[in-house]
Amino acid sequence: MAAAWDLKKAGHEVTIFESAKFAGGLASGFKEPHWKWSVEKFYHHWFQSDSEMLGLIRELGLEDKVIFPRPLTVMYHKGKWHPFDSILNALRFPGLGFGLNKIRFGFVGLFLRLTKNWQALEKVTAHEWMMKYAGKQVYEQMWQPLLIGKFASYYKGVNMAWLWARMHARTTRLGTFEGGFQNFADLFAEKLRELGVEIRLGTSIESIKQEQVYPEQSRRAGLSVRSEKGAESFDKVLVTTSPNLMTKLCPDLPKDYLKGLLELKSMGAVVMTLSLKHSISKEGYYWFNVPKEEGYPFLALVEHTNFVPKENFGGDHIVYAGDYLELGHEYFSMSNEELLERFIPAFEKFNPEFKREWINKIWVHKTNYAQPVPLVGHSKNIPAIQTPIDGLYFASMSQVYPWDRGTNFAVEIGRRAARMMK
Ligand SMILES: Cc1cc2nc3c(=O)[nH]c(=O)nc-3n(C[C@H](O)[C@H](O)[C@H](O)COP(=O)(O)OP(=O)(O)OC[C@H]3O[C@@H](n4cnc5c(N)ncnc54)[C@H](O)[C@@H]3O)c2cc1C
Repeated sequence: MAAAWDLKKAGHEVTIFESAKFAGGLASGFKEPHWKWSVEKFYHHWFQSDSEMLGLIRELGLEDKVIFPRPLTVMYHKGKWHPFDSILNALRFPGLGFGLNKIRFGFVGLFLRLTKNWQALEKVTAHEWMMKYAGKQVYEQMWQPLLIGKFASYYKGVNMAWLWARMHARTTRLGTFEGGFQNFADLFAEKLRELGVEIRLGTSIESIKQEQVYPEQSRRAGLSVRSEKGAESFDKVLVTTSPNLMTKLCPDLPKDYLKGLLELKSMGAVVMTLSLKHSISKEGYYWFNVPKEEGYPFLALVEHTNFVPKENFGGDHIVYAGDYLELGHEYFSMSNEELLERFIPAFEKFNPEFKREWINKIWVHKTNYAQPVPLVGHSKNIPAIQTPIDGLYFASMSQVYPWDRGTNFAVEIGRRAARMMK
C-alpha cells in the first residue's frame, strides 16, 4: 500500500491485488458488533521511533488519530512479575543479581543503543556475544528466554545484529491508531482509492510470468499476472507475500534466486484472543514476557485493555496469549477448544481467581510466516528487491534486515521498492 501511494503520486496507474476480503495483512483486525474499536488478530503496537510509519501517517493527514500511551511491561523472576519499562526499573530487576551484573547490563545496553556498526554484530551469534559481554546470569535471565521463545531450535544461531536492532529502534511508549490498526488500513485504502489506485480485495494471484513478445509486435514484454479471473498484463509488478509463496507464484525465476528464497528461515505464530468479563492483571500490566522454560504454554500474555481502554470494547477485557512456533508444531493443528484447555492452567497462574466462566469468547489466528530468522552473516542472504526477471520486484519481512520485521519497516521497504520501480 505504501508503494502504491508513491507510485500513483509519481503518475503511474496502480492496481493492488489482495487475496483477503480486507486490507491490512498481518496487521489487520476483527470486531464484535458491540465494539467501537477492532482488535488486531496478532497483537500490534508502534514505537515512537517508527519514523517511516509515523511519517506516512502524517502524509496521509491522519496523525491526529495516533495515540501513544505508556503501558506497563513486566518480566518474570522467581514467581513474581517485575516492571521492566524503564532503565531504572530494569536496574531494579532482581533477576540481574547485584553489583557487577547490573553494571554489565547497563554498559551492554548503552553500547547497543549507541553503536551503529551492526555489520560487525551480525558476524557473531547473540548467544555467544551476550554470554561474553553481558555475562551468564544477565544473558540467562534476560536474553536467552526471549531468544528461545522467539526462535525455538534456531535460538543459538540468531545473530547479534537482531538483538541490536531491537534495542536500537524501540521505545517504552507504545502507539496505536484510534479504532485499531484495521481502521488505519481501511482509511489508508480509502485514501489510495481517492487517488485513483484500484484495489481488488478477495482476488488471489495464482502466477506471474514474463510475457512472450514476438519481434513483429515491437513492444517491450510485460508481466502476465493471473488470478482466478484470468490473466492481465502489467509493465511492472511488486510482490509482497512470504518468500515461500513468491517461489510458487513465480517459478520461472532463475534457480539461484529461488534457492535463496527457499533457504530463508522463518517462524510461524499462533495467537489466541480472549474476550473476558474481568481483567487478568490486577496490577494493570499490559505485556507479560512469559518464561516458557517455567512451563508456560505461550510466550507472551498481553492484556490489550491495559493499553487501550475497555470502553472501546463494550466493557470486555481483551487478552492475547501468543507464541512463535516452528512449522509443524502441534498448535497449528489443534482446535480452538484444545488450545484453550492447554492455556487455561496458565491463566490461573497470572490470576488465581481466573475462572472459565470469565470467558465470553475466544478467537485463534495462525500464520506460517510471522518472524524471519536472521542467522550469522544474514546480510549476504537477503534476496534483491529487483529480481532477475525484468519488471518483477519482491519486498517482504525477510528483507528489512538488519531491522526486525514490523509495519514501520514494511512501509520503508515498500517505498524503497517504489523508488526502484519508478
Ligand atoms: C504475532 C505478530 C506480532 C506483530 N507485532 C507487530 C507490532 O507490534 N508492530 C508492528 O509494527 N508489526 C508487528 N508485526 C509485524 C507486521 O504485522 C508485519 O511486519 C507487516 O504486516 C508486514 O507487512 P507486509 O505487507 O510485508 O506483509 P503482510 O502483512 O503479510 O501482507 C501480505 C498480504 O499479501 C496477501 N496475499 C498473500 N498471498 C496472496 C496472493 N496469492 N494474492 C494476493 N494477495 C496475497 C495477504 O493476504 C496479505 O494481506 C507482527 C507480526 C506478527 C505475526
